[in-house]
Amino acid sequence: DPIVGVLALQGDVREHLAALAECDVIARPVRRPGALAEVDALVIPGGESTTMSKLAQDFDLAGPIRERIAAGMPTYGSCAGMIMLARTVLDGRPDQRGFDGIDMTVRRNAFGRQTESFEAAVPIDGLDDAPVHAVFIRAPWVESVGPDVRVLGRVTSGPAAGRIVAVQQGSLLATSFHPELTGDLRVHRLFVEIVRAATSTTEA
Ligand code: GLN
Repeated sequence: DPIVGVLALQGDVREHLAALAECDVIARPVRRPGALAEVDALVIPGGESTTMSKLAQDFDLAGPIRERIAAGMPTYGSCAGMIMLARTVLDGRPDQRGFDGIDMTVRRNAFGRQTESFEAAVPIDGLDDAPVHAVFIRAPWVESVGPDVRVLGRVTSGPAAGRIVAVQQGSLLATSFHPELTGDLRVHRLFVEIVRAATSTTEA
């Protein structure tokens, strides 16, 4: 089974480890460059992207993660993790630095005061049996995507209708919301399929 790490500097690490453990992968926290070197794929949890950015630099993980992602490591980011995967961040802190994975622009805390936290049914491309029950907590949305990015999901109603909240670019996946908090494993299983597809060529 592939080894999937969860970046364990800050945020809802335990919830992602628990979700992954149910998806037939070996799930491990990643806090050090040595641990990063042993994983086939990485999950970047929800939390606070400014703090995560700072800790990633303090723990000497920022450069190595950026390099692994550039070299094709499958990576999934939820919420703050989506922000960390974005090429461009709006309303970020000036010193905030991400991993430059997905060719997209995200806006931090985009949904505004009245909808700081909310839940919504979001249809996700490829998970067609039912919409995902999406939990948004001071979430970002995706303002724009480059030509290689596939939009997988958008908000369907309310003031933010049409906003992009799930994307994929090659082996990189990101959601504005937190599937790790709901017990619905479909997004994690989708990521594990991406991981298996990416690692099967090297393990065959
Ligand atoms: N607002 C947070 C940030 O900017 C993200 C919130 C979350 O991950 N739930 O990083």
